[in-house]
Amino acid sequence: MPKLSRRAEALGTENAFVVLAEVNRLIREGADIVSFCIGQPDFPTPVHVQDAAVEAVRSGRHGYTPSAGIDELRAAAAESMGKLRGLAIEPDEVVVGAGAKPFIGYTIASVTDYGAGDEVIYPVPGFPIYESQIVANGAVPVALPLAEARGFAFDPAALEARIGPKTRLLILNTPHNPTGGLLTRADLEAIAAVLRRHPDVWVYADEIYSKLVYDGEFVSIAALPGMRERTIISDGASKTYAMTGWRIGFTANKALAPVFTRWITNTESCASQISQWAALQALTGPQGDAEVMKERFHARRDLIVRLLNAVPGFRCATPGGAFYAWPNVTQACALIGARDSEELRRRLLLEAGVAVLADVHFGPRIEGEGQHIRFSYATSESAIEQGVARIDAFMRKATR
Ligand code: PMP
Repeated sequence: MPKLSRRAEALGTENAFVVLAEVNRLIREGADIVSFCIGQPDFPTPVHVQDAAVEAVRSGRHGYTPSAGIDELRAAAAESMGKLRGLAIEPDEVVVGAGAKPFIGYTIASVTDYGAGDEVIYPVPGFPIYESQIVANGAVPVALPLAEARGFAFDPAALEARIGPKTRLLILNTPHNPTGGLLTRADLEAIAAVLRRHPDVWVYADEIYSKLVYDGEFVSIAALPGMRERTIISDGASKTYAMTGWRIGFTANKALAPVFTRWITNTESCASQISQWAALQALTGPQGDAEVMKERFHARRDLIVRLLNAVPGFRCATPGGAFYAWPNVTQACALIGARDSEELRRRLLLEAGVAVLADVHFGPRIEGEGQHIRFSYATSESAIEQGVARIDAFMRKATR
């Protein structure tokens, strides 16, 4: 067989999808499993948004759109993103893509050169696509460790220590996957103070969970003095409007908008026209459904954190946003003689019938931070109650 490129060999994945395949196989074989794996809302897309898509289909909106998206959606996204962040964003700064995810790769490819030793700093634990795209684009991944004691933010001094002449990009993610942590205004001001000393570093602000914040305020680094120009703001319809499968994301940055547009012309041509009209309705139509979903996530967060903290060996900080809980299970591993969180995860799946992800699915474990597992609580209250009850029973039985 002809050989594959180094890039293809090195391409990473989202292990959530790998675990999900295993969970689905077990379910097909008849296993009874409560799953906390999937990082997507369990609600249907709001009906008025579905109706807008049907209307788009019926009225013949079937063709390509401009690569940057339809003007109406660019304007609505500019308005929506700007309002939340206290910024005036112009429609021509915004590019619509097939989800927020593609912009991670487009950004890295747009600000680093292949094999040139260009460095990208990214959070660990973190969304696995960051590292995967850094490596696939021939850049150098520089992990920035998050600390539980800081509410899963990082030490600004650790950031500064990682910035050098080869640093091209810093990836930030708030609210954060997988910890649910938020970067506070004080965290962001400290980060901005470091970045002001390094004017050549771009910032990719992955703010896909910006509207799922339960405690405190959402702050974007783009809103801090001097940060706007160099920051790529990334947001989208997936999480806020339960639209993951519709594939609509939007990104704002004046200098990079034309570059992103060219990337899209080179890849998917444009996001689905039907989905774009639906997303326009999501952004400009009634917000009640989105607010109800957020309230439900908030209540589920309180429920799962309370239940997890009563499980022997589990200690769960209260996450400020997104829909993930990230309990520290160091003691739980010790109680049952599991080597690490990955062994605990497998035992929970096979012996307790509960599917979660392990910290190692989000990058290498950090020295001194202990063991964690990730729960997505974008699932029903009854599944949360049943799933955590199973874990509790398992822990009590398996404790040595
Ligand atoms: N960034 C983060 C941190 C995410 O968790 C996700 C979705 N899991 C994305 C980006 C991608 O979202 P989208 O569906 O819009 O591509």
